[in-house]
Amino acid sequence: MKLLHVVGARPNYMKVASVMRAAAADPRFDQVLVHTGQHYDAAMNDVFFADLGLPAPNHYLNVGSASQAEQTAKVMLAFEGVLKKERPDRVVVVGDVNSTLAATLVAVKEGVPVDHVEAGLRSFDRRMPEEINRIVTDSIADGLYTHSPEAREHLLREGRDESQIHFVGNVMVDALDAHLAAARGRHALEADGLVPKGYAVLTLHRPSNVDEPATLERLLAILGDVAEQMPVIFPVHPRTHARLEAARKEGMRVPAGLKLTPPKGYLDFVQLLDGAKLVLTDSGGVQEETTALGVPCLTLRENTERPITCEVGSNVLVGRDRDKVRRELARVLAGEFPTGKRPPLWDGKAAERIVEVWARAM
Ligand code: UDP
Repeated sequence: MKLLHVVGARPNYMKVASVMRAAAADPRFDQVLVHTGQHYDAAMNDVFFADLGLPAPNHYLNVGSASQAEQTAKVMLAFEGVLKKERPDRVVVVGDVNSTLAATLVAVKEGVPVDHVEAGLRSFDRRMPEEINRIVTDSIADGLYTHSPEAREHLLREGRDESQIHFVGNVMVDALDAHLAAARGRHALEADGLVPKGYAVLTLHRPSNVDEPATLERLLAILGDVAEQMPVIFPVHPRTHARLEAARKEGMRVPAGLKLTPPKGYLDFVQLLDGAKLVLTDSGGVQEETTALGVPCLTLRENTERPITCEVGSNVLVGRDRDKVRRELARVLAGEFPTGKRPPLWDGKAAERIVEVWARAM
């Protein structure tokens, strides 16, 4: 069975690495990797291929940054040629980026079955570009691989058939478990002058948080409260970097105590998460990783497509509410923040279960 995997952006690499590694254990699978080039700078790319042991892509589509429409269209145009040349039995897409949607549209119309890993997540916030990508991808993909019970409910409600839905667990957690020992051997804390459980980690990149200068400034002021209690290390996403630079030119001040760095590689970042007293984020993947590690996480959003991290794990939604952040920070400092447990099937074996589904179909 020939599988064609598609990656485009940072959160895709961990998921595809897990699936490719599981399929590589069975010689009946032939695998091809296509990189759309949605994320292209080295800090968001090369280091992840090295850290995760991903093979070099067989095809690189070089689409780069562009508007939502242009980026999606560029992936579609370039991907169609690759698909016709490679003629895979299945196309495998992960997550919710524009490349996920674009590759799915092309493959389904070419009559190639598509498997969507991380299907059924819904924030119910259609202002998020990712939510549109999730809904459309799930409505036309053939195989839907889920990591939590509510994902199945969403898919059934949207008219997908029970037989297409496979509850397999979380491939992001597969990657975490596979690389945790290596991450713990890194020197990421020393490099930034941090001590275990003595700092917070911050990531921010959702357009709703970073695109509007006034919103960004308000958020940073709230994060300044945290920085008064402990150092906050802030690996800055390229999108956020551009917005911060523009806002600084207009006179915005970044609170002292926020330590800005370039984006971290995967292993260093996992070590930082693992050693953190607290994580503040608007990332989807980081909400899951902190739940898997049992590290307190405050999510700087009003909603999440991953509610299981709040119900079972260590995540609390705080939006951009200063009082809520202060309250939760006090609970963390007092050791009263519930660190939860891992949701069912977040056990490092999700990709193996996906491969079993394919093997049964051979
Ligand atoms: N990540 C990383 N370095 C960083 C920030 C994040 O390796 O500086 C990893 C993180 O561990 C997670 C993934 O990137 O696995 C999340 O990606 P991102 O937040 O860009 O996307 P989202 O999950 O929000 O779609």
